[in-house]
Amino acid sequence: MGNEDMYRATEKAYRREKFVMPKGLTYLAGNSLGPAIASIADRLVHTSNDQWGQHLAGAWKKNGWLSAPENIGDKISVLLGADQGTTLVCDSTSINLFKLLNAALAVNPQRKVILTDNSNFSTDLYVAKSVGLIHHDVEVRIVPRSSIVDTLDRSIAVLMLSHVDYRSGQAYDMALFNEKARSLGTLTLWDVSHSVGIMALDFNSSGVDMAVGCGYKYLNGGPGAPAFVYVKTDLQNRLSNPIQGWLGHAAPFVFSDDYVPASGIKRLQVGTPTTFSLVALEEGVDLLLEAGIQLVEHDSRELFDTFMAALELHVRKGRVNLLHDVQRSNVSGHIGFKVKDAEALHHSLMAENIVTEYRYPDLLRIAFNPLYTSLDDLQQTAEILNYLLSRH
Ligand SMILES: *Cc1c(COP(=O)(O)O)cnc(C)c1O
Repeated sequence: MGNEDMYRATEKAYRREKFVMPKGLTYLAGNSLGPAIASIADRLVHTSNDQWGQHLAGAWKKNGWLSAPENIGDKISVLLGADQGTTLVCDSTSINLFKLLNAALAVNPQRKVILTDNSNFSTDLYVAKSVGLIHHDVEVRIVPRSSIVDTLDRSIAVLMLSHVDYRSGQAYDMALFNEKARSLGTLTLWDVSHSVGIMALDFNSSGVDMAVGCGYKYLNGGPGAPAFVYVKTDLQNRLSNPIQGWLGHAAPFVFSDDYVPASGIKRLQVGTPTTFSLVALEEGVDLLLEAGIQLVEHDSRELFDTFMAALELHVRKGRVNLLHDVQRSNVSGHIGFKVKDAEALHHSLMAENIVTEYRYPDLLRIAFNPLYTSLDDLQQTAEILNYLLSRH
């Protein structure tokens, strides 16, 4: 890496002043909870005092609050490399998984299998199993990551995978799995919670059918920010929402006794949008759109490379154990590794004002977000980690 690149990552994508964060802190846990954006507070006050406060029930209409799930969805679709009208902000990732799994099973009722891998995130596995409990004839087939391709066949209704392994940071090659699934008539459902907002996704060219993602990690939408669903355009009207709520209705304010689904992505909505949370999430998404997701990914990779270069000696000496074979093609926004006395190491770094994430029993995770982490921060972290590891 040349000095010019270093300058670019430090100066250009450095938006730290947009965030509320203790001075001098290096925050490397943005894949768990993104930091607070300073402008959110003003927008929430404005929403409360000037909109809700002044216009009361009329505020829904006056401020277009009911279309926020689609409007912010359209902004997120840019980060997904997807078309407008394909993404809706609603509910939590878990609930959205439940909705899309059920909907996908009903598209092809002679197929009875949900396929996923055994390193998937806990909630993804739990939700799939709960779908299996409701539909007694549905099997949830959970296989090792390396067996997914060979296990795919024409009995599988939906292939549900997390794009990035939340432990290791390993990213799946979406296009490869989508192509294989498509050739067998299997629908794909990707959980991009650990990649949206840090990787430049390309749903259109990689052929994603359905996806869900989280609002409070790299989107910086705040604790409990709403999640989103994505469904490719020509699949939307073939899906039925298993939770038929009034706001997924074609005409919610007619209050008819019969449920008629809205056309398009809107049918995946259930109840009333969470206005305050949507306002906060929009600040996070706008910040990313303004920075440019390609640049964010590029600079995140630079941080990653810097860190990995510093770690190399310790990997070779076996002090640090990566959980996968790190390649150019499977890099994401974070890396997870096993290390002896991981918890103590996490606390030693904390004492140096560096926040990493420790997961029981021996996992450390480091996330590389150039919006608020500079190469200088990262180099300093690498030096301190080097020192701590060599004393280990
Ligand atoms: C964080 C995360 C979730 C979060 O689920 P919620 O229901 O929104 O709490 C789901 N899946 C993955 C892969 C995640 O990383």
